[in-house]
Amino acid sequence: MDRKSACGRAGRLLYKYEIMTFQTPFALLGEAIAARGYTAPTPVQAAVLEPGAVERDLLVSAQTGSGKTVAFGLAMGSELLDESSMVRATNAPLALIIAPTRELALQVSRELAWLFADTQARVATCVGGMDASKERRALNYGAHIVVGTPGRLRDHLERGALDLRGIAVAVLDEADEMLDMGFREDLEELLDATPETRRTLLFSATMPKPIVALAKRYQRDALRISTVESERGHGDISYQAMAVAPADIENTVVNILRLHEAETAMLFCATRDNVRHLHASLTERGFSVVALSGEHSQNERNYALQALRDGRARVCVATDVAARGIDLPSLSLVVHVEIPRDAEILQHRSGRTGRAGRKGTAILIVPYPRRRRVEMMLQGARVPAEWIAAPSAAEIHAADSERLLSVLLAPVEPGEGDRELAARLLNERSAEDIAVALVQTHRSRLPAPEELLAADAAPQRGPRPGFEGSAWFRLNVGRSQNADPRWILPLLCRRGHVSRSEIGAIRITASETLFEVSGAVAARFLDAVQRTADDDADGVIEAVQGKPRDEAPRRAHNPGARPGPAGKSGPRPDKKFHRKGPHKPR
Ligand code: AMP
Repeated sequence: MDRKSACGRAGRLLYKYEIMTFQTPFALLGEAIAARGYTAPTPVQAAVLEPGAVERDLLVSAQTGSGKTVAFGLAMGSELLDESSMVRATNAPLALIIAPTRELALQVSRELAWLFADTQARVATCVGGMDASKERRALNYGAHIVVGTPGRLRDHLERGALDLRGIAVAVLDEADEMLDMGFREDLEELLDATPETRRTLLFSATMPKPIVALAKRYQRDALRISTVESERGHGDISYQAMAVAPADIENTVVNILRLHEAETAMLFCATRDNVRHLHASLTERGFSVVALSGEHSQNERNYALQALRDGRARVCVATDVAARGIDLPSLSLVVHVEIPRDAEILQHRSGRTGRAGRKGTAILIVPYPRRRRVEMMLQGARVPAEWIAAPSAAEIHAADSERLLSVLLAPVEPGEGDRELAARLLNERSAEDIAVALVQTHRSRLPAPEELLAADAAPQRGPRPGFEGSAWFRLNVGRSQNADPRWILPLLCRRGHVSRSEIGAIRITASETLFEVSGAVAARFLDAVQRTADDDADGVIEAVQGKPRDEAPRRAHNPGARPGPAGKSGPRPDKKFHRKGPHKPR
């Protein structure tokens, strides 16, 4: 296929067909976009449709949610379609699109399917985890556009099922992700199997050195397009952060979901175990929830995403990797149940909402001991988050009442038999009784909000009877991290598998909390603390030798000493049980 002449033709045709400001020369693409209800191009779409971009390789910084799939779909028109907007006759695929994950590839495939529906272009999708023989049959049958993940495409290429010799345009979608995931060799093998005359469109959210090197090797005189700044400038996502007691994280999730009542919400956990646990716990409370993590098969993932799309499920609990590239237009709420590892993950996760001009909210649930770290991360990422209190049960009840009023006071169109039923009810009960019954019916369908541990400080817990022969421990969380017996006590019980009555005095200093455990259960407590050391966000628990002095360490007693585990004025640790390491792999 002669690239120059195809592009030249498209260039001459440019502006012949305009739908609002979508300046595509291909009538059928313009019509598909209009039918979809898109009235204005996103910045990246406008940029690829510029006359100067039509004949060029493109190196584009654009994020998921920017409308980049439609952007490269439109850009590919010049290589795929003839002057009447129909797909060119061919014996081998004309366009190759490579994406990092199964979800993203399936999503790209869906977008291109509607965009090219009337052009008679056939799209084949080749992704890991799906039936390879079906894919081979689709390729054999003749596909104009092939979309897939690097590994699976390479498989098909090596087995002779995928012929790349006719490729006129190749697209690398989320190229930075693909390199991060170790797909460089696969990409190179695939691109090397395509003709050098092809047009290469490289999309990447970030442009680190390896991407620049890849572009240099496989692109010619590429036009650099960057719309990242203008997208960020729109600020469609508002960020909130809530500092909570570690033992209250799950209850806070419940209250956030209940307060927002989002059409679709996505909750992020750090590990698949935590996804499984939160999914079970929300299901138990009556939320319609699905889970996405590495432990789910492709079929399960497809089922979960479909349930979210058609509204059977409204909440999705996911790991970072499993949620990569997911696009759910109705998703208006993202909750970072466990704080993201770094600012990039924060933005990736949050970017599941606020897509294509819609508004979204991203909420970080921050255990008190982690507040400082999160503040620094937000500052580094220049994300202006509002620190607010977690929603209380009272706030949720008030919001429920407002919602209920707007539902029940909205005008209704009575259906068949409704008036007779209303008359019978009024015959039996007063209007007020009926209204109360209606309110209760509505309320009973909603999961109950949780009472959170109070945020205002409680007094220290003094010596308690029956604690002779007790053992002392320290937790490296002090007043400066908002330590308070009200939330420290449940945390200690959870980490040490003991009950409240088995914890004695609690003394909080500026940088740490010293506490007493009944001698009868001290050994069990130690053992459990070791086993739960991976529980996130709680801080480090260490045993201390002997009974600490009655007074909290003061600088005046030991000038120059710093309070805390390294300080000389407090009791010494006799054993380190746990040092926080990186998260487990997802
Ligand atoms: P993407 O960045 O390709 O993942 O697209 C994000 C979402 O925006 C998809 O659901 C697209 O269908 C949608 N979208 C693409 N272009 C437009 C547009 N011009 N106006 C409104 N929505 C769009």
